[in-house]
Amino acid sequence: MVIAKAWVLQKHFDGFPKTSDFDLKKIELPNLKDGGEQKLLLESVFLSVDPYMRPYSRLQMKEGDIMIGTQVARIVESKNPGFTVGTFVTANRGWRTHFISDGKDLQLLLSNWPESLPKSLALGTVGMPGLTAYFGLLEVCKMKPGETVLVNAAAGAVGSVVGQLTKIGGCKVVGSAGSDDKVAYLKKIGFDEAFNYKTVKSLDEALRKASPDGYDCFFDNVGGEFASVAINQMKKYGRIAVCGAISQYNDSVPQKGPYVQIPMLFKELQMEGFLVTRWNNRREEGLQALLKWVVEGKVKCHEQVTEGFENMPMAFIGMLKGENLGKAVVKV
Ligand code: NDP
Repeated sequence: MVIAKAWVLQKHFDGFPKTSDFDLKKIELPNLKDGGEQKLLLESVFLSVDPYMRPYSRLQMKEGDIMIGTQVARIVESKNPGFTVGTFVTANRGWRTHFISDGKDLQLLLSNWPESLPKSLALGTVGMPGLTAYFGLLEVCKMKPGETVLVNAAAGAVGSVVGQLTKIGGCKVVGSAGSDDKVAYLKKIGFDEAFNYKTVKSLDEALRKASPDGYDCFFDNVGGEFASVAINQMKKYGRIAVCGAISQYNDSVPQKGPYVQIPMLFKELQMEGFLVTRWNNRREEGLQALLKWVVEGKVKCHEQVTEGFENMPMAFIGMLKGENLGKAVVKV
């Protein structure tokens, strides 16, 4: 018999999450039975901590539920002939060390996943965040060669891929991030312009300096005040992909305007919110494209790995505070 560890949401987050909002529980898993439905035992190897967990905890969870989230897991026992022991999969089974599955909720890693490539990337560049960058740029921004693209939270999981795909697509990219080390990283991976939004005297001036002609596309991960300033520097017919609003997720009192109608109207802008799940039917296409670019060295990946399942709440809170460069993951 296996005792799984799981992090539960002890108390709904009020403002910025605290470690006391979580509780570590032990769950006894039943032994696998021959012929039953539940024929696989898995252990989580890497778990993801993502910004969406903050707003979705309110929308989808009640206190006492296991925290939502995805993992790369390894099959440790199988009574299902479709899955062999040792196979790695991704799953959406929340913050837990072990779980039982009938196999229907598991996704195999790509069959051509190179042995030398860390499997944790299936939670980042070659996973959901990479797909978010890919479909957001192609289908929402509809970027064209020669255009100028702005992305914020640029040194994070989604933003760092956005910047690099923008360069592959023949565009100029401007990125903002919250530390000088992150800005240096953005320049290293090919951003044309990058600045620290926390230390610039004026965000408006920094955006203008980085692209005096304005922006064709704005891939917005942050929302709030940043977006309110940036929208005024869009070019005529510019496109804004509303990917996230991390500057607003921890607000207890919703922020107020400025409002978007005036720049939207006079610059004839398009602004579209999107969820990456819209393109679930094209997941394989996106993952194969991302894997190819990673293997070719055209897309570089950085991960912020926190060691130890017991440190998951700290890794989550640290990511929300901006302590991560690239994708934040936890190694069990
Ligand atoms: P990141 O790896 O970018 O981590 C979050 C980063 O956000 C932090 O490192 C921090 O970087 C930045 N940040 C935190 N608070 C603020 C703030 N108040 N103002 C500006 N920046 C802040 O996370 P992801 O790449 O996973 O996600 C990025 C965004 O994309 C999120 O908004 C997320 O919700 C969204 N998303 C949307 C999806 C969709 O389907 N639409 C799918 C996946 C993600 P810094 O040091 O630069 O401040």
